[in-house]
Amino acid sequence: MRNRFAVVACILVVPLAFLRLTAQSPPASPTLVKASRLLDPRTGNVISPAAVLIEDGRIKAVGPPAHVQAPAGAKTIDLGSATLLPGLIDSHTHLLLDVIVPPEEEAKRHLNGDFAPGLLLTIVESPIKRALMGAQLAREDLESGFTTVRNLGHSGIDGDTSLRDAINAGRLPGPRILAAGRKMIGQGDYLQNLNPALADAILQQEFILITGPDQARHAVLQNVFYNVDVIKVSLGDDTTTEELKAVVDQAHRQQLKVAVHAFESSNIQVAIDAGADSIEHGNQVTDDQLKQMREKGTFLDLTPTFYGGFFTKITEPSIVISPVVRASNASADARRDKRYQEFVQRVLKSGVKFAAGSDMCWFYPGKTRGQASTATLVNLRDAGMPSLDVLRAITTNAAEMLGWQDRIGAVEPGKYADLVAVSGDPIANITELERVRFVMKDGQVVRNDLASH
Ligand SMILES: [Zn+2]
Repeated sequence: MRNRFAVVACILVVPLAFLRLTAQSPPASPTLVKASRLLDPRTGNVISPAAVLIEDGRIKAVGPPAHVQAPAGAKTIDLGSATLLPGLIDSHTHLLLDVIVPPEEEAKRHLNGDFAPGLLLTIVESPIKRALMGAQLAREDLESGFTTVRNLGHSGIDGDTSLRDAINAGRLPGPRILAAGRKMIGQGDYLQNLNPALADAILQQEFILITGPDQARHAVLQNVFYNVDVIKVSLGDDTTTEELKAVVDQAHRQQLKVAVHAFESSNIQVAIDAGADSIEHGNQVTDDQLKQMREKGTFLDLTPTFYGGFFTKITEPSIVISPVVRASNASADARRDKRYQEFVQRVLKSGVKFAAGSDMCWFYPGKTRGQASTATLVNLRDAGMPSLDVLRAITTNAAEMLGWQDRIGAVEPGKYADLVAVSGDPIANITELERVRFVMKDGQVVRNDLASH
């Protein structure tokens, strides 16, 4: 019986395995990518001219063309005068959420009226529609040069894990995804204005509530059942250090890192004390807390989402706003920008480990999701971060924060062949990242707008 079962299993498995291979296998022949410059974000060193040899989806050799020997039959992609960089990493995004800010009168009727109504609609309307939208946003991210993203919640029960699996199986184009599954939150956080008769069923689509240390451990395991890559916790005022410690301990037992949304200094302290791996946003961190984080090796994941007049940019072209609200938005933008600049300077001075994420979950008129995300991340330069540090925040540093420094974040032998190229010099002008001209993931060309020579 056992043998017969094995034979049947083979018959079933072999064609499936074959299909998967044909869908995702890298080109059989080695590829040599040449460009006039290759910038290493880790050191700031430039190889010029540069060549990268790729075999079986991985980087085999990097250096001046004279030192990189391509085997006979290798395919050459010559990017001319372009600058090569590692594929970009967005450490904090939401591919299954695309909130359209409602008109002023609608927003005024709801608690957190800019965000909550859009979120609610996404949850209750159709999980399938939401997943298909996620497929579009994933493709748009990849086309803009994001070869890896960490998706930190707002995906329904298994939206981001399923999207990840579909991309990995070659069904859809998209970045590598580290998926968090459902966001773990305290009671009284998010959408607390929901009708109690309906709230639980709606909330369960999006969140797992933390109601005590033992239950918090169980909540981690619920996400583990869906094969998540990371645990995301959003700290409200009612989550205790003991509860978060239980989450961190349980997650670490499963070899999962814990990313904690913490904005105010009281919440940041809970995250530090509980041993969070990264603190997301962290805007109100104190200098003493930055010191504690540096000593513990806790990452700060900067999200400059609202820097640079973001709300004005996403609302102005499309929605109904009175001149009074428009003016108050503009002055709020200016105040926010000033605070963010001070924050970035303190972070840089502290020596804390940092990476960056777009936290993009908003519909940005006139931009794809990838374009909206790069536009947000390059804002760090305007907030006073040197270009090389901005690049590190979305390549080498991000890879380390994700725990994937052995496979992504740098153009080095052994790593996945994830590359981007821009026409100009990204150190002189970081907005070059908004005009990525070449994208390769896994050794496969996603886009190439540069003329082949
Ligand atoms: Zn977020």
